[in-house]
Amino acid sequence: MAENVKDLGRSPGTMRTMHEHVPAPKDFGVALIGVPDGSDIELDLRFEAVHEGILVSGTAVVPVRGECGRCLTPIAYDQDVDVQELFYYEDAESFGEEEEEEQRRIERDVIDLEPVLRDAVVTSLPFQPVCREDCEGLCPECGVRLEEDPGHHHEVVDPRWAALAGLTGTAADNEAAKSTESDEREES
Ligand SMILES: [Zn+2]
Ligand SMILES: [Zn+2]
Repeated sequence: MAENVKDLGRSPGTMRTMHEHVPAPKDFGVALIGVPDGSDIELDLRFEAVHEGILVSGTAVVPVRGECGRCLTPIAYDQDVDVQELFYYEDAESFGEEEEEEQRRIERDVIDLEPVLRDAVVTSLPFQPVCREDCEGLCPECGVRLEEDPGHHHEVVDPRWAALAGLTGTAADNEAAKSTESDEREES
């Protein structure tokens, strides 16, 4: 994902556009969500020579895949990502407000689009992806998806969970808790 811009020369105002489909590089994402390695990214970019370098602007359309952080439902949508970055000529003096290490450079007439695109994509991803804002998630006891089962609740406490809840007690206590209703009321 690199573009040779030698043809633009160094005359400010010279510009051209690029429309291309490229395979997504690795690591275009975060833990639960991202752009799958090798999937199709559509680039619509403009390269414009300015005094100190080449200004790259436009959009990338990326397929986003992941899963809901609450209920694990698969999430899939296409995302438009805005790209705007000035790449300085190799010999350009560094100036402006930016720190030198934040300034991107054209190297041997080639612009490396990957880090810029990665930043733009990762920034556009939700920090905590959800299938819906009001996703209720999973039942903490049995893992059922709550929105698929309205009113879902557990009448009877499974003995295995009762045992976990009463870890401080003895096995005999837990047996007692299971067999007498009054003990359960005390616990809740
Ligand atoms: Zn969900
Ligand atoms: Zn449940």
